[in-house]
Amino acid sequence: MANPSILILPGDGIGPEVMAEVRKVIGWFGKNRDLNFDLSEDLVGGAAYDAHGTPLTDATMAKAQSVDAVLLGAVGGPAYDDLDFSVKPERGLLRLRKEMDLFANLRPAQCFDALADFSSLKKDVVSGLDIMIVRELTSGSYFGEPRGISDLPDGQRVGINTQRYTTNEIRRVARSAFELARKRGNKVCSMEKANVMESGILWREEVTWVHQNEYPDVELSHMYADNGAMQLVRWPKQFDVIVTDNLFGDILSDCAAMLTGSLGMLPSASLGVPMENGRPKAMYEPVHGSAPDITGQGKANPIACILSFAMALRYSFDNGDEATRLENAIETVLANGARTADLLGPEGGSPISTTEMGDVIIAALDASL
Ligand code: NAD
Repeated sequence: MANPSILILPGDGIGPEVMAEVRKVIGWFGKNRDLNFDLSEDLVGGAAYDAHGTPLTDATMAKAQSVDAVLLGAVGGPAYDDLDFSVKPERGLLRLRKEMDLFANLRPAQCFDALADFSSLKKDVVSGLDIMIVRELTSGSYFGEPRGISDLPDGQRVGINTQRYTTNEIRRVARSAFELARKRGNKVCSMEKANVMESGILWREEVTWVHQNEYPDVELSHMYADNGAMQLVRWPKQFDVIVTDNLFGDILSDCAAMLTGSLGMLPSASLGVPMENGRPKAMYEPVHGSAPDITGQGKANPIACILSFAMALRYSFDNGDEATRLENAIETVLANGARTADLLGPEGGSPISTTEMGDVIIAALDASL
């Protein structure tokens, strides 16, 4: 059987720096765990604009559609701030998400014990935390029609956005959440505002339908999204998988992310419908941007990008054991005190560089054999 394929799009700023460390990790799995991938690499964002005058060429888009998974670094930077909106680096990213129809955005909030002091919450509230927010990404109030700003007869203006969800849009993201739960703690909490919104009533009914008909083995609960926000900061460990719509998910996932501390630690995945080989369309990327303030200085933390590859192992390549091995290696290096500059607390200390962090993670992987 052919090796699974990955398209690497390092992008701009620290993107190529952190991706270089991911390549080391991918190489390690090939050499030591017989997990080989067909890797290709291409340009996205400002790098693609510089070379081709567009943040994503049609050829790169076609490649992204044909591979088993896309791994992306970050896009953007001050050099591109004044470009026309249509060719801004972010357009490349949005085109990938849209044309691959990546409707389920997975944002884990995982707190490594060694970093529990970084959270704004008490240590015992976040230590050992491991939750997953599944946000619907391609519908809801960010896309619903009618939308716009118009004039009213009395001289006022009105701004309108429409919260709109169809049966299929709800069912498919619910399925993603249930599938994930089966690979984790087997619990899904669905969040909406069924008390005040019809779209929330439909959301609750359809998630319940999917549960009863397809995933009765998974534990399902429902929560109003405002209570969900409160519970996330009160006792986040009560959750395993949270599934919610685009707007609530935008807010709740940022809230959950900050439970864990640094931006340099946060991975994400965006998944679409299964392809012919059963794997979902998928793009994996760190949550952080291109960090122009530290680009080229060896200061970037590669862990968010490496954890994004761990997500690819788990969710695209069905290899949860090796994903856990990689996450454990990261846990070990952090427990041993390895810190890039962003992970130094107020007490300071001497940071290691991006490549040194990659190297100690490889050494911890070696030690795991
Ligand atoms: P940013 O995430 O790039 O940086 C915010 C802060 O976090 C900076 O101080 C940065 O140094 C730090 N930081 C981020 N990642 C880090 C890492 N891995 N290790 C250590 N420190 C890290 O956000 P920003 O400064 O608002 O945006 C910079 C550029 O990135 C902009 O052009 C923006 O549009 C773009 N951006 C891209 C994405 C993406 O590609 N997905 C996401 C957000 C922002």
